[in-house]
Amino acid sequence: MTIAVLGGGLQGCCIALALADRGQPVVLFDRQPDVLTRTAVANEGKVHLGWMYAADPSLATARVMIEGALAFAPFLERHLGVSPASLTISEPAAYAVHRESQQDVDQVKAYFAAVRGLISEASAGRRDHYFGADLLQAPRQWSDAERLAAFHPSDVLAVFDTPEVAIDPVELATRLRAAVLAHPRIELRLGHEVEGACEDQTGVRVATRVGATIVRDRFDHVVNALWDGRIALDRSMGLDPGRPWIHRLKYGVSFTWPANRPRPPSVTFVSGPFGEVVSYPDMTTYLTWYPACVLDYSRAVVPPAWATYPDEPLRSKVIGDTVRSLGAIVRALGTITPDMLPDVRVKGGTIVAWGKTDIDDPQSELHKRFEIGVHSRRRYHSVDPGKLTMAPHFATICADRIAPGG
Ligand SMILES: Cc1cc2nc3c(=O)[nH]c(=O)nc-3n(C[C@H](O)[C@H](O)[C@H](O)COP(=O)(O)OP(=O)(O)OC[C@H]3O[C@@H](n4cnc5c(N)ncnc54)[C@H](O)[C@@H]3O)c2cc1C
Repeated sequence: MTIAVLGGGLQGCCIALALADRGQPVVLFDRQPDVLTRTAVANEGKVHLGWMYAADPSLATARVMIEGALAFAPFLERHLGVSPASLTISEPAAYAVHRESQQDVDQVKAYFAAVRGLISEASAGRRDHYFGADLLQAPRQWSDAERLAAFHPSDVLAVFDTPEVAIDPVELATRLRAAVLAHPRIELRLGHEVEGACEDQTGVRVATRVGATIVRDRFDHVVNALWDGRIALDRSMGLDPGRPWIHRLKYGVSFTWPANRPRPPSVTFVSGPFGEVVSYPDMTTYLTWYPACVLDYSRAVVPPAWATYPDEPLRSKVIGDTVRSLGAIVRALGTITPDMLPDVRVKGGTIVAWGKTDIDDPQSELHKRFEIGVHSRRRYHSVDPGKLTMAPHFATICADRIAPGG
């Protein structure tokens, strides 16, 4: 059997590995000179357990994320030989209800109780599948004294501990790249721009462009894991999503926390256009604040080629606006300024999601992220990971469809 995986991001690399480990030879295409250079390394690495999605009261988004989260570490252990204990994991995230939250504290509390129930049900028999965390613990609400010590009280109405962690996406990419490059059954075709695909009775033909040359290959199965190029390739196959989508450009800021300063907690603000702080034990700190970091939108089939690393003066503006905005809420962040952060980095990428309006609209489809996954038509498989969280889980589903029984 011949298989092409198009897109060497987290999703494409996980699928290639899952198939190759089942004995299938895979050709992995990407237009970049290396795999894992785009969104896969430009995200904040949160392995979602569903706490974020209080604006989806159907719990469908939480259910999907929990499945993805519980499959994440086991996939890495199986296909990369990486024990979860050897990965860099953030401090667990507290969830803070912002004063302008789209759900009030009682609604968030009720949602968290429901999510905890789902996690407890889904994790039965696999308690050790989420980075060693105790998934059965109820989200503890912080006392007023704790909340006031860490946050400016008028902005933060309540705070709850959760076991949710982030992984370091760059470390993950480094290990994944090594596994892909070393695999004897994965052939890399880098610098290949995927232009289109079509199916005939003998398989799926893929056209790629290398410089001025168009190359055509036929495969028994083709997997579309192009992320922000996925909708365009589906269209070339005659598959139209039949619904609106939004591409958003989002950046994040990371740096080493200055010595001798009180550290901020890992915290996610809900529910609406807010942001996060992710703190790692080695002092790495990641910040994102929606109004400062989401800088462009596109409803085109293919979004613009937004820069992973923004140039000046945009870079400094993102840093300044993010530190200032979060510093007005999180006390520890109020004690630092950008000039204290010599290694500060800004990077970002495209977020692809169904929807018409942005997340400041409580009814926006962006709050509901469950309509993602592997869509197969005969020998063509289009995979929308939706989130980094889901990529390993969907890789296994995709491999099951192409080479069952692995
Ligand atoms: C700032 C930010 C923060 C995020 N935080 C989180 C988070 O905390 N948790 C979470 O679960 N998710 C998060 N996400 C989402 C997550 O990063 C993405 O869902 C996921 O990385 C996308 O899959 P990918 O890694 O395969 O994409 P990519 O890394 O973008 O891979 C797609 C690949 O396809 C290639 N490609 C595209 N078009 C073509 C073409 N025509 N021809 C050839 N090659 C092509 C690209 O070069 C690229 O290598 C975040 C995203 C952003 C931008």
